Amino acid sequence: MDKEAITILFCTQERSNQADRIRQALCDAGLTFNWRESNPEIVAHTPTADVILLYCEPASASSLDNWLEAHQSNFPPVVQLLLPDTRPYPTANAAIHLNQLGALATTLLYVTEPNRLKRACEQSSLRLVASEERFRRLFEDTTLASLLITGGKISDANRACATLFGAQRPQDLLGLSLLDLSPPSQPSGQTSAGLAGEAISVTMTQGTHRFEWESLRLDRSPVWLRVITTLLSVNAEPVIHAVFEDLSVERDQRQRLEFLAYHDSITGLPDRNACILRIDQMFTQQPNTQPAVLKLGVDDFKSLNNLFGYQLADKLLVLVSQRLASGLVCEHELFRMPGGKFAILLSEVQSSETLQQIAESTLLLFESPFELEDFSRRLQISIGASYTDSRQINAQTLLQEAQIALSEAQKNKAFHYSLFEPAMRAKRDNNLRLREQLRQALINNEFEMYYQPQMELRSKRVTGAESLIRWNHPTRGLVPPNEFIPIAEESGLIVQMTRWILVDVCRQGRVWLEKGWEDFTLAVNLSAEHFDAGTVEADIDHALSESGLPPQHLEIELTESTLLNRTDELIVLLERLRQRDIKLAIDDFGTGYSNLSYLSQLPVQKLKIDQSFIADYFTNKGNRAVVQATVLLARSLKLATIAEGVEKPLIADSLYAIGCDSVQGYLLSKPMPARAFEMWLESHKAEQRMSVFTAGRRHFPNT
Ligand code: C2E
Ligand code: CA
Ligand code: CA
Repeated sequence: MDKEAITILFCTQERSNQADRIRQALCDAGLTFNWRESNPEIVAHTPTADVILLYCEPASASSLDNWLEAHQSNFPPVVQLLLPDTRPYPTANAAIHLNQLGALATTLLYVTEPNRLKRACEQSSLRLVASEERFRRLFEDTTLASLLITGGKISDANRACATLFGAQRPQDLLGLSLLDLSPPSQPSGQTSAGLAGEAISVTMTQGTHRFEWESLRLDRSPVWLRVITTLLSVNAEPVIHAVFEDLSVERDQRQRLEFLAYHDSITGLPDRNACILRIDQMFTQQPNTQPAVLKLGVDDFKSLNNLFGYQLADKLLVLVSQRLASGLVCEHELFRMPGGKFAILLSEVQSSETLQQIAESTLLLFESPFELEDFSRRLQISIGASYTDSRQINAQTLLQEAQIALSEAQKNKAFHYSLFEPAMRAKRDNNLRLREQLRQALINNEFEMYYQPQMELRSKRVTGAESLIRWNHPTRGLVPPNEFIPIAEESGLIVQMTRWILVDVCRQGRVWLEKGWEDFTLAVNLSAEHFDAGTVEADIDHALSESGLPPQHLEIELTESTLLNRTDELIVLLERLRQRDIKLAIDDFGTGYSNLSYLSQLPVQKLKIDQSFIADYFTNKGNRAVVQATVLLARSLKLATIAEGVEKPLIADSLYAIGCDSVQGYLLSKPMPARAFEMWLESHKAEQRMSVFTAGRRHFPNT
């Protein structure tokens, strides 16, 4: 057994697995020691030790008590290990909490030192130096700042402590009290003197205490500390051992994280979490309050992101937030919500009229364009509102309702404002249900492609078909695409759905090709969301290679709005598709805002004139003029034209007369399942019953 080492008697009720942890902590601290274990009941019969490390409830230590009493002055010091709910053992010389084992080695040395010094003195002066040195080394070399307080004044301090408080040498701290190193009051507002008094009394009664403290360095600069105090007894005199940890960096980070947790990093505005907290606060502080929320969104924010890239779009958001703030009345609060949205919180709203007025004046703020780098552009925003209106609802619901109203407002291009109504929620719930059913329908194969023929007017030849999806709903029967395509687009399901469509249509094309139909194209509708997802080219490739359909038989229909505001990348992608002989058509032409000269720069071959211009072709002069101008311009740009929604022979005639190339519509046939289409095509070829057209009456020279 090492005579230099201190002998520790670990005294516990039953063999505890804490013993190994404690031994390890002491080894880690560099202490050399001999370890013995004993039960408090039999401790009296075990050979003596330098220190008793007590780890049990005081009640179980009664025999220890008796023994200590019997030996009065000649017993080793007792250090008690505490768990949060262990009661302190009154006879213990020091107590250490189990989660501050780092300080245990110093404590053990400290309490054993008087006895050991005495013994060492009796034995040899050399040993005295050795053991004292060991204690000092631990106290000095630890990187944790620590000091001893005797009689309220600093009686010892290590180098780390001097550095922490900005002293040149540890001695410079001696004789000071902790209050000399503290501001008059702590961040909580309580006086430092009062709180220090409390901390000391907790340490004295419980043996240990842990708290955070704002201190001052010698140059009076503040430092935020975690303090762990331990009560020691040296020669029957209480001494407080304090260990400090500098939390300044941690606190700055914590404050920054707290800020970030409640603020948007782009605009610096409080965020959604902050908004919820604020509304909750309003409800609890003034239970009769009727707060309202205006939720604002920049229309088509996603394509702004695509058009400008995230960095510019972020700058734009900052400008939007500034403009919103400029119109804010002082009791209104502005928040940044996810996805390019904002919320204005109003503490008290009496009527829907007031809300509407505020919304209208907010919309007015967006009349003038935004100037950013070399671009100037008006941004359209929409506003959805919800107010409590003496209903019992919580913050989440209020925000959710405002969002539902906002979605409604964004769909309604005329007003840009809507107030939440319960019917909206029902509609949204229905949408959510549909969304789930759609997901299931994809798995269950409930979709079927229908085909609607397209005919070239000059030759009367059926040149192809547009594929249109149908949903064979197990209970509702055939569901039209207008009911589910927008939901598929909103939810992103459209990508998966179109992947399936492409494969199905290409396979069908391959079948018809093999049956001898040679010169034809099958058109597939592509949604903007699919381009946003970035998989269009790969999905087309997959469908073509999987089916073996040559690419010239595939046509892609894109709407004007898909093309508008899209990045150069889209143009490059379309260019690549064209080079591979895939056809491109612009769908619903005339309903968007694109001008023809812009479109002529795109790799497009065909314009599909929207059916809204065709339906009242004879009764609406304006529409007729649009169609004529479109056909003329398209010709000059070498673009083919096809009119959609042609139901009457006379309209087909007239379209032919003005130079429109092809037609599609009920006049030929409604969209049909593949099998029916095949039969229709056969009979069409066989009969060539073009008598419905006044064929040959051409008023426009064919080029
Ligand atoms: P769209 O692409 O403009 O399709 C033309 C729509 O007009 C089809 O409606 C078609 O049945 C209808 N139609 C054709 N001829 C006539 C006519 O003479 N008179 C009238 N009144 N209507 C006619 P449908 O099939 O209900 O599709 C509606 C919309 O749903 C489509 O408009 C398209 O935007 C979308 N859609 C349909 N199938 C698909 C698809 O497979 N993928 C995608 N992304 N969208 C699709
Ligand atoms: Ca279409
Ligand atoms: Ca169309």
